[in-house]
Amino acid sequence: MTSNANLTPAKVIHELKAGHERFRQARSIHPHATEARLHELEQGQAPHAAVLSCSDSRVAVELIFDSGFGDLFVIRNAGNSSTPGSLASVEYAVEALQVPLVLVMSHSGCGAVGAACKPEHLLTPTLMDHVGHIRNGLKGAGLPFEPQVDLTHAYGLHARVTARELINSSALLRNQIDNGRLEVHAACFELHSLEINWLGAEHEA
Ligand SMILES: [Zn+2]
Repeated sequence: MTSNANLTPAKVIHELKAGHERFRQARSIHPHATEARLHELEQGQAPHAAVLSCSDSRVAVELIFDSGFGDLFVIRNAGNSSTPGSLASVEYAVEALQVPLVLVMSHSGCGAVGAACKPEHLLTPTLMDHVGHIRNGLKGAGLPFEPQVDLTHAYGLHARVTARELINSSALLRNQIDNGRLEVHAACFELHSLEINWLGAEHEA
């Protein structure tokens, strides 16, 4: 187990971009994928980033960033939303594991964001709450819902809204950002082109 003491947000963004570039160019090296690597990590983990992504089966985070065991602390739920569980998981990664970067990554074709933009969609009450939260966030960020929603814009905007919600909900995250130890970035993965639209660091709003 190594320490994250010398890692900076910029270094980690650079690593993620390099891994994603290998994946996009079909040059993945699948690092840290062996049983030996897992044994090295038995006493503890020091992942370089926390990634909050969608549970969508097409958004396989470790593959998209060409990473392996111990590299990323991945939190997923339908629509990569800020929930008590995802926020607590992000706080754990920042406080206990000292990750200098949190990445909220949404994706094109997201069913949860799509449902949030179509209120007539039939859902269970729990799903209705979850999707309603996404909808309220998009509305609060000024996304026009009439005459129809620009979904391409909604996918990326939702990542930015979620990143802001995490920051606004957590004194720990705000402290670490103020100290220069942490950045919370938003991004959107494009399923067709395999590209990632990097949307930059978010701040308290
Ligand atoms: Zn999704």
